[in-house]
Amino acid sequence: MMLKDCLSMTAGKLKDGKRLYVCPASLETVLAARMMKNEYHVLPSGFCDNDPRKQGRHLNSLPELEVFSFDRALEDPEAEFLVVSAFHSAEIIGDLTMARGVAPERILNSHPIEKRKTCARFAQNWAIGDDIYSCCCMEGRPSFPHDALDPEKGVDSIERVRNGLIDGTLPLPEQCMACYQNRDSYIYTSRKLNSFNFSFLGWCNYKCDYCCAHQPDRKNYNDKFYLEEYLTALEKRDMVNDIFSVLFATGEPTLNEKRFSLYQHCGEKGYYLDIFSNCSVFDQALFDLAHESPVIVRKSFDAGTPETYARIKGVNCWEKMLKNVRHYIEAPYLVLNPKYIFMPGINDRKEDVEGFVQVCKELKADFVMPVFNYLDNAYEKSEQTQRMFKYLTDCLAEEGIFTVNGDTLYSESYHKLYQASF
Ligand code: SF4
Ligand code: SF4
Repeated sequence: MMLKDCLSMTAGKLKDGKRLYVCPASLETVLAARMMKNEYHVLPSGFCDNDPRKQGRHLNSLPELEVFSFDRALEDPEAEFLVVSAFHSAEIIGDLTMARGVAPERILNSHPIEKRKTCARFAQNWAIGDDIYSCCCMEGRPSFPHDALDPEKGVDSIERVRNGLIDGTLPLPEQCMACYQNRDSYIYTSRKLNSFNFSFLGWCNYKCDYCCAHQPDRKNYNDKFYLEEYLTALEKRDMVNDIFSVLFATGEPTLNEKRFSLYQHCGEKGYYLDIFSNCSVFDQALFDLAHESPVIVRKSFDAGTPETYARIKGVNCWEKMLKNVRHYIEAPYLVLNPKYIFMPGINDRKEDVEGFVQVCKELKADFVMPVFNYLDNAYEKSEQTQRMFKYLTDCLAEEGIFTVNGDTLYSESYHKLYQASF
């Protein structure tokens, strides 16, 4: 079943008077609800989410829908659910069916789930980087070389490695043994992937001084990689889940000349395209795709003033970027995820935080990702940065904007600081 089939089935149930919730409250489910509204003229009964901060609230971009707790939604013994989450769907389905005893038939896209001590990333989410495959960005993670010219071989290795890691026939790297993510996890028994992430370096027109993507020798870098061929190889092996996300984070992806066929593939298959863009150019093809198929644009603002933006990005492009972002969000199936990476001494002034919050408010953002510069742990020593991190989460909360954490990218110390900011 593809995304559009799930949405059409969901719409049919709602029209028959069923209560049906989309879970969790996230960028993906906002898009799912928008697609239902536009294509089938019906809205879900609400969002369902375990996060108490979200419960009882409404999102800025879809004020018609309330966010419910699972306990409240389950007060109706016939309530049904559609689960859409690249990183947490097995966890949500497992919690509903195995921990709470909800009949799997009440979850429209339910699949058998098993619980075992493993990292859920092994089972569900893999990325292709410069010369390795991996499933997270932590140092010492499991990774293995890929052959850039042979997606079939690469996908074959992913299959073997991850099953070996889950089943214990391959030794776990030391980092995984001690990692906070290696714990009792719910995973799909089928072990189908929920997401595939293109994250090799690529080329970028910005000049952030902590990044090497702008160097001229990167310009022909994209030639070395295939894009949708990897997805085709995964599909041939039946490794793709029915709701699937493609993360595209290669330098500046909207300048990658191979992007058109990737967009087309995502559109045809109904995959979520999750793209990291600096929004310095307006990509008409991306805008067009977002009229038919779901697109998430993750944009690192990291500034609230044109001056700070120019200092960090190495180009004077604040106004042009904002104009492009304002245009992008006119597409019906495009949501924006603003990010703010704190860099001590550079963008941790009140003026920047407040300017950024104003931008998020104007853009009707629902979810913002505040992070520290994970390439540098100076934030751990900077009280000012930590104070401003908290100030940002407070200002966003006042505007009804939720903060989401970078749960796939960052270390346990980041997560501790993140939690402490509430
Ligand atoms: S380092 Fe942690 S998050 Fe990464 S693969 Fe290993 S257990 Fe999973
Ligand atoms: S916008 Fe992103 S990819 Fe481009 S130079 Fe900056 S950090 Fe690198």
